[in-house]
Amino acid sequence: SDSHFPIPISPEEVDYSLHYPEVVKVDPSKRIEFADVGCGFGGLLIALAPLFPDNLMIGMELRDKVTEYVKERILGLRTTNPGQYQNISVVRTNSMKYIPNYFGKGQLKKMFFLFPDPHFKEKNHRRRVISPFLLDEYAYVLAVGGIIYTITDVEELGEWMKSCLDEHPMFEALTTEELEADQVVKLLTAATEEGQKVARNGGQTFRAVFRRIATH
Ligand code: SAM
Repeated sequence: SDSHFPIPISPEEVDYSLHYPEVVKVDPSKRIEFADVGCGFGGLLIALAPLFPDNLMIGMELRDKVTEYVKERILGLRTTNPGQYQNISVVRTNSMKYIPNYFGKGQLKKMFFLFPDPHFKEKNHRRRVISPFLLDEYAYVLAVGGIIYTITDVEELGEWMKSCLDEHPMFEALTTEELEADQVVKLLTAATEEGQKVARNGGQTFRAVFRRIATH
């Protein structure tokens, strides 16, 4: 539950020894570089863990029970695969409020917003995890060159996320060649529980992948 991971008042207060005990023993200066926002059941993190063994990653999830499940899943994988899955963890938090509590300026190399809740009604658009206001915050915590990955099966939301990113001065779209060269792109549908569900049902997905650029 929440009591294990209270909301840190600043990124310096995040307790890395709780999340990544084995990594901290070896290199206490290591910081989280990937954030899976609204990680759900954690499929993406688990797929990324062995691909990026040197990067620390965190899932951020609002639902308590789901967060507990992911925590147990990671602990189980650590036990059955000694030395592996030490670089992933999860925290129960409201990402729309607390991203700056967890990450400092330019800290992140990748942020994921995969199959977020659509909030269809116009008056609820401000609850969407991608918005012009929140993109300012994400631009702040992303390093220049860092990548933001978004995908959804809801066409209207896909267009919304893409247009917010297109219009933001601190992001530029990856080219087709860059998308093809990025091994992570395939995992957006292949490794997420939601992506697998959409694939089983033969549904379409709408993707927007953008890079944080320098501004002058
Ligand atoms: N990304 C996962 C996937 O692709 O399988 C889960 C997608 S699920 C449809 C959306 C998730 O976002 C839910 O687990 C929900 O609890 C979580 N969520 C919604 N609002 C959130 C918020 N403000 N902060 C953190 N998580 C949130």
